[in-house]
Amino acid sequence: MTDVRSSRVGSEELTATYDVVIVGAGFAGMYMLHKVRQLGLSARVYDAAKGVGGTWYWNRYPGARCDVMSLDYSYSFDPELEQEWEWTEKYATQPEILSYANHVADRYDLRPDIQFDTRIERSSFDEEAGRWTVRTSAGDVVSAQHIVMAVGTLSTPKLPEIDGIDSYEGETYQTQRWPHDGVDLSGKRVAVIGTGSSGIQAIPNIAAQAATTTVFQRTPNYSMPAGNRPLDAEEVAERKAGYPAYRQAARESFFGVPIAGEPKMALDVTEEERNAAYQAGWDAGSLVGLVGAFGDILFSKEANDTAAEFVRTKIRSIVDDPQVAEDLCPDDYPVGTKRPCLDTDYFATFNKDNVRLVNVRRTPIVCITPTGLDTTEERFEFDAIVYATGFDALTGSLVSVDVEGRGGATLKEAWADGPTTYLGLAAAGFPNFHLVTGPQSPSVLSNMMVSIEQHVEWIADAIEYLRDNGYETMEATPEAVNAWVEHSTELGNQTLYPLADSWYMGANVPGKPRVFLPYIGGVGPYREKCDEVAAAGYEGFKLV
Ligand code: FAD
Ligand code: NAP
Repeated sequence: MTDVRSSRVGSEELTATYDVVIVGAGFAGMYMLHKVRQLGLSARVYDAAKGVGGTWYWNRYPGARCDVMSLDYSYSFDPELEQEWEWTEKYATQPEILSYANHVADRYDLRPDIQFDTRIERSSFDEEAGRWTVRTSAGDVVSAQHIVMAVGTLSTPKLPEIDGIDSYEGETYQTQRWPHDGVDLSGKRVAVIGTGSSGIQAIPNIAAQAATTTVFQRTPNYSMPAGNRPLDAEEVAERKAGYPAYRQAARESFFGVPIAGEPKMALDVTEEERNAAYQAGWDAGSLVGLVGAFGDILFSKEANDTAAEFVRTKIRSIVDDPQVAEDLCPDDYPVGTKRPCLDTDYFATFNKDNVRLVNVRRTPIVCITPTGLDTTEERFEFDAIVYATGFDALTGSLVSVDVEGRGGATLKEAWADGPTTYLGLAAAGFPNFHLVTGPQSPSVLSNMMVSIEQHVEWIADAIEYLRDNGYETMEATPEAVNAWVEHSTELGNQTLYPLADSWYMGANVPGKPRVFLPYIGGVGPYREKCDEVAAAGYEGFKLV
């Protein structure tokens, strides 16, 4: 038991006591710290990274940039911050987004309360004291009333299960852990494994340097041109002037980005009208340009097929070699059900003489060798292998901490058949354990900045409510959790998402339960639900 007065937990000496421990110093953790401080509470943030920024600290591969427009993908909580920061491109580069994160850390003087280079390894709830004991890789043993998991949804990198992966003697890189000093690939024979958003952004940039680039593709992607460009002063001024209404519209929208007007249904219009809308979506260079063109694309396979065929026609028109074009055309899952990608010259890159596509569905990778890799048909030699193979998404970083709740039950065991949360914010049996953009919340199906701000504000309000009303703990009831999971699953099953082997479904991690992880009810309606829960005195939570 934690005795805060004697600063001991069992036989261990407590190194510190806080009101709130926050795990992660990405955009979620930084804002959480700011909010908690405003409540006059003490807090400590821990991050395994050596700096702030989370995603944008770790993912430094060439070409890394956001795919939600910079003017949307930014904090809205402080009008002064949003007015003073100058984004230079429609889609900001990783260095620019990281500078923004550092600017925020400096502007709100966050660093004194952040401990970098420190992983949270274990966290256990002491029922008698009603507090969490948190243990770090640096040897700290800390007591906290609340723990906020701002650990990120895409923050546990995943390497492929390929035999011999450790035997490779050349240079190995991961997009999710790119070296901070950059990598010079000029003159080298480079392999890239993985063609999700990271691979699709990195490949044209790698191909611009390397002597040869060989791309190993398992599943082709529906990617659209980003149409990236410098922002012009007039549009920035206009957006900044209209920010209050625009941000509000984003909060009430479906994806966290306002879309004008009510969409028609693809199957209700003529082929001509449909293709004109798809062309406009394609030209817009926006993630929602195509998927948001009609209201039925994510719900009706027949409607979806029309959008998917539009993209395939585009790919065929860009790629010179008909076989390569066919290999690059996705055709076994609906458009939008794996996260769509935005690119700069991705498909055209395969027209270069020194770039080769290997379709590993036709010729699977057998093993990695000390000098390259073998497929069923060919032996390849490389100077460098780049893995762009994604993440153990949404749950990976949560269950990799050894979290012990009430009665010693672990989060890992509790979620063995898939995560079960109330609103993606809390789990039964884990009091005062708060999730930012947890599973069964809109998170990765939205502009994450909007979802992060909403969760952080909701959690801060809840903590304030407990304090002001004399409560010590809040805990989601099993009934509320079950009802929410059922509702979230039911909504997911009404869409086409379950048809794809995506990380949304946990399908990219062997042994991970196949369940639809995010919430597809829309950012605006979801926010309303969270607000109703709070207004009803935190309905669905047991307050003690
Ligand atoms: P993160 O940024 O992932 O930060 C979590 C932090 O927690 C990390 O620094 C990690 O080191 C730390 N951490 C985790 N576990 C522990 C532990 N046990 N102990 C200590 N520290 C820990 N979203 C969009 O909406 N638009 C985009 O354009 C977009 N682009 C993306 C591009 C890439 C390459 C990737 C990978 C993701 C992108 N995302 C995008 C999603 C992105 O993750 C979120 O937008 C956002 O940055 C998440 O912020 P966060 O603070 O929640 O998590
Ligand atoms: P990802 O989308 O999961 O892509 C991983 C890729 O690796 C897939 O093509 C996958 O193929 C492939 N792969 C995995 N194991 C393999 C194996 N054994 N053999 C061959 N190929 C294998 O991961 P990501 O590209 O890092 O993107 C993750 C998410 O981060 C994105 O969906 C997005 O949300 C975010 N992100 C955003 C941006 C942006 O543009 N702003 C950039 C990067 C990331 P399969 O599809 O067949 O599994």
